[in-house]
Amino acid sequence: MGRFQDMRCKVGSHTGEWDYDGYRECGQTRRCTNCSAVSTRVRHNWGEWNWADPDDRTNCESVRECSRCDGTDYETRHNLEWRYTLDVMGDASNAKGLGEALLAATARAMQESYAKCQQVMACRRCGYFDMSASRTFHDWGDWRLSQYGDASVHVCARCGEREESEES
Ligand SMILES: [Zn+2]
Ligand SMILES: [Zn+2]
Ligand SMILES: [Zn+2]
Ligand SMILES: [Zn+2]
Repeated sequence: MGRFQDMRCKVGSHTGEWDYDGYRECGQTRRCTNCSAVSTRVRHNWGEWNWADPDDRTNCESVRECSRCDGTDYETRHNLEWRYTLDVMGDASNAKGLGEALLAATARAMQESYAKCQQVMACRRCGYFDMSASRTFHDWGDWRLSQYGDASVHVCARCGEREESEES
């Protein structure tokens, strides 16, 4: 190996094939082909994610199992998608156990028409939502010629916003 790999070895970036070492189920060992340093790591052979409790739709904790050892891995995995904030708030205020603050927030959002087309990332399954990620998503109709025929216009079916594009 060349000087480049010597430099990489110095900073711990060794080279060579990883092999299962046989004495730890998912443990792998690599002997560097350049400097002979031995490194170890654990590499599980994870299966698909499944819901930890498929019947509990308020809980998106998921689990996956290793097919080599009996290792398990847990992670909260929401089914996030863009949804209209008003719909999300409506679902949330209908759900049991949520406080009045949320109801108040819903009412506020209803009052502000600009929020009609605001969307947040929300979980289709458990109702979790993330207000820090939001976007405006209008439900535009088809482009039509404006009243005077000098521009194209389309209108949002949800909030009534109009957008014009000048015809050249
Ligand atoms: Zn090395
Ligand atoms: Zn494993
Ligand atoms: Zn969820
Ligand atoms: Zn709109």
